[in-house]
Amino acid sequence: MTQVRNVYCIGRNYALHARELGNEVPKEPIVFLKPTHAVVPFAGKLSLPGTAGEVHHEAEIVLRIAKRYERGAAADELVDAMTLGLDLTLRDVQSALKRDGHPWLAAKGFPNSAPVCPWMPFPGSAAAAAAEFELRINGKTAQRGCAKDMLFPFSRLLAFLGERFGLDAGDVVFTGTPAGVGPLSSGDALELIWDGTPVGSCTVELL
Ligand code: ZN
Repeated sequence: MTQVRNVYCIGRNYALHARELGNEVPKEPIVFLKPTHAVVPFAGKLSLPGTAGEVHHEAEIVLRIAKRYERGAAADELVDAMTLGLDLTLRDVQSALKRDGHPWLAAKGFPNSAPVCPWMPFPGSAAAAAAEFELRINGKTAQRGCAKDMLFPFSRLLAFLGERFGLDAGDVVFTGTPAGVGPLSSGDALELIWDGTPVGSCTVELL
């Protein structure tokens, strides 16, 4: 797997998903980080925590940054590859952390919490926003999304990250999940589909 540097994740970037969890639609991007250890191939058996409440799937478009952000740079200049991945979330743990006003790391940063399919060349923001992506669980559609429905499109997200936190080659960005998140069960067969083509599959193992 390509060497990954910072793993930025965007919360509530699709209005329908923000509302399904009872959250306000944000006025600027909500950003959190995952440890690099979270990033693993979306393939084979995916071992996840089975004793900390529900593990929710969040299917997302993931961007890989190829060069240092400079003010005004557009996504099409910064991104060289994209893929689909899951921002896996211990939802019960996250609810408790939110209630107590604590950071989300324990809910979002466990090992294997960011499985990603193989990288594909980035087709450009316009082409990417014209394609749909989908997560299937045991053959049924669980989530379906399209970048055109994002509250903050790619260039806006990357400018925000670049200016606030820094953005450089090797950073990856999970761009938020559409509606339809829900719990995984041991033995679930997962498949991610980009523009009608399967790009990865794996099986869940809750330990
Ligand atoms: Zn997410």
